[in-house]
Amino acid sequence: MRNISFPALILNIQPSGENNRNVMIFSAEEGISYATLYGGPKSKLRSLVSPMNSGIIYLYRDESKNQTKITDFDVKNYHLSFRENLFKTWAANLASEILIRTKCAGSSEASWKIVRGFLDGMEISSEAESRLGLVRFLWRYLDLLGVKPDTKFCCQCGESLHAGKFTNHALSYRYPFQTSENGFVCPDCGAAQVHSESNSNPFSAGIGKAALTYLEATSSLSPKEVRAITIDLTCLQEMKTLVYFLIEQACGSKLKTLETGIGIL
Ligand SMILES: [Zn+2]
Repeated sequence: MRNISFPALILNIQPSGENNRNVMIFSAEEGISYATLYGGPKSKLRSLVSPMNSGIIYLYRDESKNQTKITDFDVKNYHLSFRENLFKTWAANLASEILIRTKCAGSSEASWKIVRGFLDGMEISSEAESRLGLVRFLWRYLDLLGVKPDTKFCCQCGESLHAGKFTNHALSYRYPFQTSENGFVCPDCGAAQVHSESNSNPFSAGIGKAALTYLEATSSLSPKEVRAITIDLTCLQEMKTLVYFLIEQACGSKLKTLETGIGIL
């Protein structure tokens, strides 16, 4: 039996028994774990232990009985803006579903860092900024899962995707995404195979130069530097379609949050 405490985020709460609740907790220390919250509806602790609240959680663990009880929760961030904004609520739910589905991408410490960065960043951002924040979060999470496509080099010939002649064509060129190679194709290879690529590839139309450059920047620049880059709606839409597709592929099936919240996300 011991008392433990660490920084944690509340993911989900389910009623358990008459007055108790079963709480799903996410932390760098334990990944996803469960604890019981005792107390009636008027208990102060019960109002603190609420989904998406983060702070220091205090647990009492009895290993012999396989029981963990929440004794206190010192909330540092209530993420209040999530309750007033539908997009933020759904984006947070999506992050939570992905965490659960991928078992924290096999690294609770690394996933804690990027999930917390995403949620706390969204809290102080507008909805428009948060929409880009979600793309960056998913891109980084794909990296954590080891399935982030290469945005530097052509998946066919290995040439740089950012080099090339400075012509009007180069600026308007679209980089087809090849699902079989999990990579992008350069203008030369793209021209050679434009007729051979089957229509079943949802990204044969490709993403534009701006989207490819932004994704590359997300991987190689600091978060502060990336936040300073502005992009247009078409570019956001292209990246969104791509990252939603990739994250569902990485999770192995459709994501409930994406299916039900597609008009919002
Ligand atoms: Zn190539």
